[in-house]
Amino acid sequence: MKQMIFPLIRQLGKRWHYAVLSLFVAVGLILGSAQTAQSFSFFDLFRQGVQVFQLSNLSDEQEVKLGRQINEQLVNNEITLSRNQQLNRYVDGIGQRLVPHSDRADIPYTFQVVKDDSVNAFATMGGFVYIHTGLMAAADNESELASVVAHEIGHITARHAVQQMKQRAIAQGLLSAAGLDESAAVQIGVELAVSRPNSREDELEADKKGLDTLTKAGYAPLGMISFMEKLQQQGGSPPSFLSTHPAVSDRIEILKAQIDNPRQGNGLNTSIYQRRTQALR
Ligand code: ZN
Repeated sequence: MKQMIFPLIRQLGKRWHYAVLSLFVAVGLILGSAQTAQSFSFFDLFRQGVQVFQLSNLSDEQEVKLGRQINEQLVNNEITLSRNQQLNRYVDGIGQRLVPHSDRADIPYTFQVVKDDSVNAFATMGGFVYIHTGLMAAADNESELASVVAHEIGHITARHAVQQMKQRAIAQGLLSAAGLDESAAVQIGVELAVSRPNSREDELEADKKGLDTLTKAGYAPLGMISFMEKLQQQGGSPPSFLSTHPAVSDRIEILKAQIDNPRQGNGLNTSIYQRRTQALR
C-alpha cells in the first residue's frame, strides 16, 4: 500500500499532499487491526530466523539481547523475583548510582531482587544483575549492599559471562566457524547463571573494578571489607558469590591494600538502611 501511495503523492504535488496523507491515515486506521495481525506474524517469522553470535566479537546490542533472553528463561524457570516495589526501587537506585562510575556505562543495566533467603548475588551479561533478599538482609548498611552490586557490575563490565559462554560452547563442541546459535547461547547463559563458575581471576577483577566503582560513586569502601569479614566470621561454607577460590581472607587482604580511607564516603548508617529495607523484616 505504501508503494502505491507514495508515488501518487509525488505526482499530485504539495497541494494534494495532506489530503492524500489523511486519506492514507484514515485507511490505515480502518485496516489497522488486520494490518497489525499481519505485521506481527511477519516479525515473529523474522525473530524465528536463527541468529548466530560471534562470541569473540559480540556487539553491545547482541549482548543486551542475550542478557534479556537469559533473564526471561531464569524468571520463568529458575528464580522468583521479589514483587516488593520498595526493595526493587532501592536496589535499582543503588545500581543506577554506581553505573556511571563503572567503566561500561553505555549499556542499559537491569537490577532485580530475587526472593531467596540465601546470601547471594549474581550477574549474567548485557547489564543484568540479581541480588537475593537473603543478601540484603545480611547487609548492615547501604555501602555493604552497594559493594556487592558494584562487584556484580564489575563482572558485567569485564564481560566474564561472555568469556565463560565461549569456553563452555567450545567444550561442548557447539561453536561452529560461524559462531554460536542463539538458542544454545541462551541455554548456556542460563546454566552459567545457575552454576556461577567464576574463576579466581574473575573474582579478583570484579572486586577491583567494584571497589573502584563503589568509591567513585561516593560510598565508603569499608562496606566491601566489613561485609566479606562478616560472612567469613559466620562460619560454615561461604556463599557461592564469595566463591571458595580465591579464599575470602585473601580477597579481604587484597582489598585492604587498595584502600586508604575506609570510612571516607557515605552509606554506613545502619538505621537508615534498616528503614529502607523494612520490607525484608
Ligand atoms: Zn563475583
